[in-house]
Amino acid sequence: MAAGARLQTARSEGDIATIVLEVSGLDKSGREALEAKVREAARRAGAAEARVAMTSERVTRRIVAVGSGKGGVGKSTLSANLAVAMARLGRKVGLVDADIYGPSQPRLLATEGRKPEAEGQKMYPVQSPFGVPMLSMGHLVQPGQAIAWRGPMAGNALGQLIDAHWGDTEIIVVDLPPGTGDVQLTMLQKHKPVGAVIVSTPQDLALMDATRAIGLFEQGHVPIIGMVENMAGYICPHCGEQSDPFGAGGAEAAAMSMKLPFLGRVPLDLAIRRDSDAGLPPAAGEGAGAEVFAAIARKVLAWLDTPR
Ligand code: ADP
Repeated sequence: MAAGARLQTARSEGDIATIVLEVSGLDKSGREALEAKVREAARRAGAAEARVAMTSERVTRRIVAVGSGKGGVGKSTLSANLAVAMARLGRKVGLVDADIYGPSQPRLLATEGRKPEAEGQKMYPVQSPFGVPMLSMGHLVQPGQAIAWRGPMAGNALGQLIDAHWGDTEIIVVDLPPGTGDVQLTMLQKHKPVGAVIVSTPQDLALMDATRAIGLFEQGHVPIIGMVENMAGYICPHCGEQSDPFGAGGAEAAAMSMKLPFLGRVPLDLAIRRDSDAGLPPAAGEGAGAEVFAAIARKVLAWLDTPR
């Protein structure tokens, strides 16, 4: 992430200097170091006291929600890889793991065991090795510790992840909890995503759940960017041939019948699970595994870049 600072205003009254800087892409220690340098410079220039304030570069930050009607369809995998793929396409992308009941993003993006720094109540996202800053409930609790968040508590916890020091991040991908309950609806109403991506597997049952997720976004007045079909077609690890154990094209057909854009199909591929578990998102790699997610990312960005 490009880090920088620009002088916004500098005034002196008597021997008190007031300096306002516009900073972007600096974490807590970076900001502290910069502040110390500016103070020192003001003192050398003869100021007895230096008041330093920092404002963030104004960015229009947009939230893209990723949802599914039920767990286990690959919503977290898609969220992580979509964020990484969009970052590789040159955007400033962050990720919030709102899946408070089963936060898996620290593992997927190799930030397990890291603790976000905070200034008062406000957190700084943790930097992942893939150019995607992120925050997850998984960073705040011990691994394996049961979380029994309910209604308002869950909402507050989520709010803290979203209202963090996101710096110059322009797009935040939010990995929603699976399902269509109150936590999800409150999140949509409070944090107003610009659009939603729905993940489904090709089976009928999963698609029925996806339909419920679509209903949730409609209720929250969040436009649907499109649907992704995950675990579509099995790539044989031995011969590379594709077969369709769960059927194929179900999500695409459902998207068409609901007049929703279809964003792409991610095959059921052992390598996706293995690499994801190892904290190596396929989108950060090379070849077909990365291209699948890059193609979806391009469609999401095209949607975001279309004025509406
Ligand atoms: P959800 O967030 O919907 O609960 P996850 O993203 O955690 O689902 O995925 C559930 C499991 O399925 C994980 O072990 C993940 O690695 C695996 N998985 C997800 N998508 C694929 C895929 N396309 N091919 C193989 N394994 C996948």
